[in-house]
Amino acid sequence: MCPKCGKISNVPVPEAEVDLKTSPYRRAFGDYTKIECLDGHIFWVYYC
Ligand SMILES: [Zn+2]
Repeated sequence: MCPKCGKISNVPVPEAEVDLKTSPYRRAFGDYTKIECLDGHIFWVYYC
């Protein structure tokens, strides 16, 4: 879900049972993927 507008985006999840955390900021560590929502907001999803 986009942290800026709340719209749900499809996120490619490498594993079925991982927790996803969205962040408007990029972190220097961890596995993450960059997502662009339908309104063009850029955010990152982290796999924990
Ligand atoms: Zn958005």
